[in-house]
Amino acid sequence: MAVTVLVVEDELKIRELVRRYLERENLEVVTTGSGAEALTILERGGIDMIVLDLNLPDVSGESVAAEYAGRVPILMLTAKSSEADRIRGLELGADDYLTKPFSPRELVLRVQAVLRRGTTTAAVSERSSFGEGVMIIDESRREVTVGGTLVEVTPTEWSLLTALAASPGRVFSRSELINRVRGYEFDGYERTVDSHVKNLRRKIETDPHEPLLVETVLGAGYRLGVSRDKA
Ligand code: CA
Repeated sequence: MAVTVLVVEDELKIRELVRRYLERENLEVVTTGSGAEALTILERGGIDMIVLDLNLPDVSGESVAAEYAGRVPILMLTAKSSEADRIRGLELGADDYLTKPFSPRELVLRVQAVLRRGTTTAAVSERSSFGEGVMIIDESRREVTVGGTLVEVTPTEWSLLTALAASPGRVFSRSELINRVRGYEFDGYERTVDSHVKNLRRKIETDPHEPLLVETVLGAGYRLGVSRDKA
């Protein structure tokens, strides 16, 4: 089966250069210059790896990485070469990073290395368990189970929850969450996030007034209050 690489890069020249080099290695290549479109493509599935530019005009590479790191291997492209930026890339869950300007040949070698490593982790279940089994999220089935009961969530609630669950404990601001769920029915107002969270809590929390799964961080946003269980 063909291996498909998604190249997310808004600079046309770099995007086409990367495409040419990867296609030469018999990889299937899908490209986009938009972070939002990248999320749509990833949602459809069938992507084996992402070559991801950090600086994109719309939804940032950071947001794409936060959503897909750990599920799809990521090679991050960054214009900055400072150590802080490299560490940030790796903290975001990138499997590797390359600083611009880079040699296309090196990019190919890095992609191949990440893909080789990726094949051993690709079999990882799409079912993630949180809080010692309290909540189970099954990405492939788009199902949330809390305390053994299947919970019906709307696409927006699903996006909010999976965004938070991608990095348990990390605080997400309201505007960041709006960026994540863009593409669904969402008017973009920060207060709308609060109402979606309220609805979500009613469905998943034992006591919606004392939420344990989706916590409010005063003045900052929301975070997942439980950690991911070891597989
Ligand atoms: Ca860019």
